[in-house]
Amino acid sequence: MVLKKAMSSMASLINSRSAVGLEDVASEVLNHHPDAATAYLEKAFEIGSKAHDGQVRQSGEAYFTHPTEVALILAKSKLDLETVAAGFLHDVLEDSAITVEDLARDFGGSLSIIVDGVSKISKMKFRDQHVAQAENYRKMILAMSKDIRVLIVKLADRLHNMRTLSFLREDKRQRISQETLEIYAPLAHRIGMSHFKAELEELSFQNLKPEAFKQLNDQLLSRNKKNRHMVDHVTGLVQDLLASNQIEGNVASRIKSHYSIYNKLVNKKTTIEGIYDYYAFRILVHSVQDCYAMLGILHERWRPIPGRFKDFIATPKPNLYQSLHTTLISETGTPFEVQIRTVMMHRIAEEGVAAHWTYKNGRLMSLGKVDYTKWLKKLADEQMEVKDAHEFLETIKGELQRDEILVFTPAGEIKTLPKEATPLDFAYMIHTELGHRTTGAKVDGKMISLKSPLQSGNIVEILTSNSQKPSQEWLKIVKTASARNKIRQWLRTEEKKQSIDLGKKIFDRELRRKKIPIKTVTKEAIQKHLSAFQVKKLEDFYSSIGFGRITPTKAIEPFLPEESKDKRSAKDIRESRIKRAINRITKRSNQQVTVRGQSDVLVYLAKCCKPIIGDPVVGYITRGRGVAVHKADCKTLTQMGVSHERRIDVDWDKSSEKQIFSVRVRVYTEDRPGMIADISQAIASSKTNVKQFKASVDTGRSMGIFDLVIEIHTLDHLEKVFVALRKTKGVLSYERQS
Ligand code: MN
Repeated sequence: MVLKKAMSSMASLINSRSAVGLEDVASEVLNHHPDAATAYLEKAFEIGSKAHDGQVRQSGEAYFTHPTEVALILAKSKLDLETVAAGFLHDVLEDSAITVEDLARDFGGSLSIIVDGVSKISKMKFRDQHVAQAENYRKMILAMSKDIRVLIVKLADRLHNMRTLSFLREDKRQRISQETLEIYAPLAHRIGMSHFKAELEELSFQNLKPEAFKQLNDQLLSRNKKNRHMVDHVTGLVQDLLASNQIEGNVASRIKSHYSIYNKLVNKKTTIEGIYDYYAFRILVHSVQDCYAMLGILHERWRPIPGRFKDFIATPKPNLYQSLHTTLISETGTPFEVQIRTVMMHRIAEEGVAAHWTYKNGRLMSLGKVDYTKWLKKLADEQMEVKDAHEFLETIKGELQRDEILVFTPAGEIKTLPKEATPLDFAYMIHTELGHRTTGAKVDGKMISLKSPLQSGNIVEILTSNSQKPSQEWLKIVKTASARNKIRQWLRTEEKKQSIDLGKKIFDRELRRKKIPIKTVTKEAIQKHLSAFQVKKLEDFYSSIGFGRITPTKAIEPFLPEESKDKRSAKDIRESRIKRAINRITKRSNQQVTVRGQSDVLVYLAKCCKPIIGDPVVGYITRGRGVAVHKADCKTLTQMGVSHERRIDVDWDKSSEKQIFSVRVRVYTEDRPGMIADISQAIASSKTNVKQFKASVDTGRSMGIFDLVIEIHTLDHLEKVFVALRKTKGVLSYERQS
């Protein structure tokens, strides 16, 4: 950021001292990428320095020292040419007349996207008022979602600003440090760039709590002196152990970061004496086997503290950190922590995501078995300690999973949805109740239909009404499984509620009809008879009536006065006579199947799958039309998503074996003369009536197609027809249509 632009030219004179230059950056890049085309860097350096010409930092240095330092940080992090060049240019959009288009033309699309993204993020202040903040997130996320290197350059930029923070006013220092600690350090951690993270934390801590920092630093120095002997002793012993076991490797010791020790002191409410693991020894070896071998050797040499061993090799941390950790007790009784890992693991531990550009075509990716995209996805899936920062990472997820979109609530919260998701999916994602009450949606302030797919970046506002209810239609609109499940769940509950109400009404009406005083049929009285109806709860009793599983006559039976049980009323007799008459007339179509345990339920065969006797079947209680019998594997039934409540066991009625079923069969044949006669003959030979016979020719494929409706008694009968068809010359295939 430009702190003071175009100050007096005097200031830039002050600064002719040893500033870093193009050569430093270029040689650093060549260190890691010997084939890099440094002319590209040179161009970025020239255009950048021209753009910032005359601008001065708060420190009095020429402004361009900052972008140059940022480029150097990126080069030292072994990043690729474009990223390093973006370091030189990361502030030009804000501080000069250069446009994104200019950058795209001169340096290519990727660089312009990186610089544009960094500029957008730099404009945001995260400790702002809440309204502005929400909008900030939105912009930031969109900026970062284009390229993860936006974040890396931004982190390098922040790192250099933190290093030079002392030139700023106290209040600015505090704000920037706070923001760094809460947002940027966790981000660096999540993408595995631990050297960035550690330095950002250390500098923030130093600025936010200078006294605590100094006090801790003094304590560490004095303890360090005391422990010097122990540390050297252990280091020497470990080196000997490596050598005597012929394991190639080295050992180093370090004090953990001030910030992490400070946090431990605060969290454990203890003093520096109470902490023993602020010291860590790190052993780097060359293979995983050596890691475990060394672990065994150390555990033999020193006593390990139980419960302190951690195997991050077998189970890497979310940011892919791998290492073995163990804490041992020295001869003098001082515990010390040891970390053992391979050189490669160490690289990843230090450089994180940046390692990807370092070894793009090299060994790291294969050796470390790290799939870059999976890695980032995993990162994004992890919960962040800092909520804000978590949301940054959501973007990376959005970028990497091309089939996902990112949309925003009016408050700026980010939601990830599958592509093609609708406002209804969005509503259900936020809250089930919100989903149920959705009547419409505004996208970016404009009303849209509930069916229209959302786009990445949309701000979605859901309109609701308390009288709104989900409907079957909604199942066709939503794209997410969770929304679909919630709607189904609601529909089922609602269906049950309705059937309970309906059942209660039917029950009461039947009681009145039979002149049974309703008062005598108390809940308790019904409860006594529930088991007879094979239900457990009163509401199941009512819903069974509502669904038609228990007929009204059956339902009130236990409550009939004793005398009326045997002599039915004249009206009942008359009714059952009519019923029998109807049954006789409709027998063919509806009495082939019996509903288990019931004989007076209206049954019909579903038209969609036309089951015939012998087919495994299932009953489905329709509203008002009785029980529909479907083939157990009927596709229509599955599509309807029928609730368990409405399924019912049905069996084929034995006596229905003389019944006739219509079956549709399609036969594919060669296109030759006499085919029609042969098909007719085949079917006639199996003693089958043909109700419909339609022949057509598919000239394109030179095939005859016969659509038949035949009358069948049993599955065996149908099989006979098929056998006859198989034997007919020219028949290619046939299928039963449902
Ligand atoms: Mn900057």
